[in-house]
Amino acid sequence: MIKENLASIKAKLPTGVTLIAISKTKPISDVQEAYDAGQLVFGENHALEMRDKHEALPKDIQWHFVGHLQTNKIKYIVPFVALIHSIDSGRLLEAVDAEGKKRDRIVDCLLQFHIASETTKFGLDLDEAKALLESETFKNMHNVRICGVMGMATFTDDEAEIQKEFKNLHGIYDTLKQEYFGQAPYFKEISMGMSEDYAIAIEEGSTMIRLGSKIFGARNYNI
Ligand SMILES: *Cc1c(COP(=O)(O)O)cnc(C)c1O
Repeated sequence: MIKENLASIKAKLPTGVTLIAISKTKPISDVQEAYDAGQLVFGENHALEMRDKHEALPKDIQWHFVGHLQTNKIKYIVPFVALIHSIDSGRLLEAVDAEGKKRDRIVDCLLQFHIASETTKFGLDLDEAKALLESETFKNMHNVRICGVMGMATFTDDEAEIQKEFKNLHGIYDTLKQEYFGQAPYFKEISMGMSEDYAIAIEEGSTMIRLGSKIFGARNYNI
């Protein structure tokens, strides 16, 4: 069904919205099946799982990291990662920068914002992001590039709430673009929208949707 799922999602996808297939917990064979159907962009939320899949699968796959990243795992993904969606502290960004320098790479990153009402989710608020972007430490980072923002809405059936949270993230993006990235054409991504809420996210200006179960089916969290 993976091929059919991809085809029906892509048929309705506006141009300018990138589909990231979130393959976490799914076997290599599922990723290969999606790849064979033409999908080249995948996302994972565990560093070692992403490294292992990267090693096993075709090298033209673009791997996006979407999970909470521990500093001691950065080294496993920096050599090949296409985009880290989940920068939620200055300390983490600094550590990615240091690893990028070691590997002679500029690592593309998004700042993750806490837009949900749940307190369990990770992310910065606007003031923290501004403090980070204005810091001397940030000005001395030459091996990371901030390409936009990412956020996860509250897990709820309340569509008005989800819409409000995505609008908030778009507003944060606009503020940062205006105040810090006006001259930076690479600052252009708003990563928002998952299997249950991506239609709302697209209406609210998402440029990257991250879909797992909609493509691969429900995940088995017991493994
Ligand atoms: C798991 C995950 C997704 C995909 O979730 P689905 O509901 O299966 O589409 C998207 N983004 C992040 C950050 C995730 O961890």
